[in-house]
Amino acid sequence: MDYSSRIIADIEKRFADQAEFIQACKEVLETLQPALDANPQYEANRILERITEPERTVMFRVSWTNDKGEIMVNRGYRVQFNSALGPYKGGLRFHPSVNLGILKFLGFEQIFKNALSGLSIGGAKGGSDFDPKGRSDAEIMRFCQAFMAKLYPFIGMRTDVPAGDIGVGGREVGYLFGAYKHLTNRYEGVLTGKNLLFGGSLARTEATGYGCVYFALNMLAARGLDLKDKVCAVSGAGNVAIYCCEKLWQCGAKPVTVTDSTGMIYDPEGIDVAILKQVKEVEHARLTRYAELRPSAKYTPVEEYPAGRHAVWDVPCFAAFPCATQNEVNEKDAEALLANGCQCVSEGANMPSTPEAIAAYLKAGICYGPAKAANAGGVSVSQLEMAQNANMVHWTFEEVDNKLKDIMKNIYTRAATTAKAYGEPNNLLMGANISAFCEVADAMIAQGMY
Ligand code: NDP
Repeated sequence: MDYSSRIIADIEKRFADQAEFIQACKEVLETLQPALDANPQYEANRILERITEPERTVMFRVSWTNDKGEIMVNRGYRVQFNSALGPYKGGLRFHPSVNLGILKFLGFEQIFKNALSGLSIGGAKGGSDFDPKGRSDAEIMRFCQAFMAKLYPFIGMRTDVPAGDIGVGGREVGYLFGAYKHLTNRYEGVLTGKNLLFGGSLARTEATGYGCVYFALNMLAARGLDLKDKVCAVSGAGNVAIYCCEKLWQCGAKPVTVTDSTGMIYDPEGIDVAILKQVKEVEHARLTRYAELRPSAKYTPVEEYPAGRHAVWDVPCFAAFPCATQNEVNEKDAEALLANGCQCVSEGANMPSTPEAIAAYLKAGICYGPAKAANAGGVSVSQLEMAQNANMVHWTFEEVDNKLKDIMKNIYTRAATTAKAYGEPNNLLMGANISAFCEVADAMIAQGMY
C-alpha cells in the first residue's frame, strides 16, 4: 500500500465518526501520491501524519441567556490546524450542524486554500452549534460575547485571526470584535470581515463571490470561452451567493437561481440582486419573500425536489456556482448538469461537490474550479484587511478588487501549471492540492519537527 493510501486507511479507522473530515482528507491525499513519490523527504518527515492532525483544538462551553432570561448552553470550537506559513486564519461558522468533524474538514481545507493565496497565512476554522435563525439582535450579541469570552485567550493578530462563515456575517463579527476589545484592552485586527468603521476592508464582503467568478473566467479564458450572455445557476442565498450573482451580471451573464435550506428560486428574468440583498441582508428573511417581491420568480420548496436530488442543478445552465454548503452537488446532480450542457463548475462553497460529482466533472473534461482554489478570494481579501490594519491604511475598492483579480489569476495559474507538470492538465483539483501541499510541507520540514 502506498503512503497516501496507508494514511487514508488510518484516518478512516481512527475518525470513523467524522465523515466530512475523512472526505476532505481523501479529496486531498488521493491526488498527492505523484508528488509524494517524487519527494521522499515528505514520507521520511511523516508529513501526512502531521498535516492531518491539528496543531491545537480548543472546545468550550458557551452559556448565554435568551430574551426570556433562560440559560442556554452551546458548544464552541477553534481548530488551529497548521501555522507553517503564517498565523492561523479561517472563519467561524454558527450553524446547528457544526461538530468537530465538520470544523476539521473546513480547517484542513483552509490550510491549502491559504497556501494557494500566496499570502503567508496558516489554516484554522471554528464556530459553534448555535443556530442564529430566529434569534433577536440582542440574543445574537449576548451569544457572540459569551463565545468570545471563551475564545479570546487563544487568538490574536499574530496568532490566529478568525473571520465569518455560514451564520457569521458583518453583524456577528462586529459583536465578536467589540467583545475581544473589552476583554483584552487591545484595539487590533484580530478578526477580519469587520465593519468599515473599525478596520474593515472595502471589497471584503464581495470577495468570495466575486473571486469565484474571476476563477471561472480564468478557466474559461484558457479555452477561449467567457461568461457573456451565458445563463448561470447559483446555489445559496448568503454572502457568497449574493456577490457571485452580482459579479455574474457585471460580466454580462445571467444568474437565474438561488437557494436556501428550505427551497429554491428560479427566476428566468435573472436574479434581481437588489431585491435579494433587501431580503437577505436587510430583512434577514427567507426566499419566499423574494418570490413575493419578484413576479417573475418561481419558488420551489425542498419537499418538492426529486428524491435524493438538489433541484437547482436541473436548471439548464452554461456554468454552475455552488455557493451554499458541503455536499450540495451529488453524482445525480452532476449528471443532470452535464446532460444539460454545463461547461463549468466553480465552487464558492467549501466541498460542495461529492467525490462522485467531482469524478463526473473530470471525466467529462469540463472546467472544474475546486473550492480551495475558486473560493480563496474571501480569505485573500481578509489577509489584505490584515495588511491594511497592520499599516493603518485604507485602500480603495478598486485597489482591493484589482489585487483580488490578480490573486485569483495567480491561483489559477499555479493550479494549472502544476496539473500540467504532473501530466493531468485538466485536473485543477490535483494541481491545486499538490501545489499547496508542497509549499506547506517544505515549510514544515524547514521549521523542524513539531
Ligand atoms: P451565509 O450564512 O451567508 O449563507 C449560507 C447560505 O447557504 C444560506 O442561503 C443558507 O440557507 C444556505 N445553507 C447553509 N447550510 C445549508 C444546508 N445545510 N442546506 C442548504 N442550504 C444551506 O454563508 P456564506 O455565504 O458565507 O457561506 C456559504 C459557503 O461558502 C459555505 O460553504 C462557506 O464555508 C463558504 N465560504 C464562505 C466564505 C466567506 O467569505 N463568507 C469564504 C469561503 C468559503 P439558510 O439561510 O436556509 O441556512
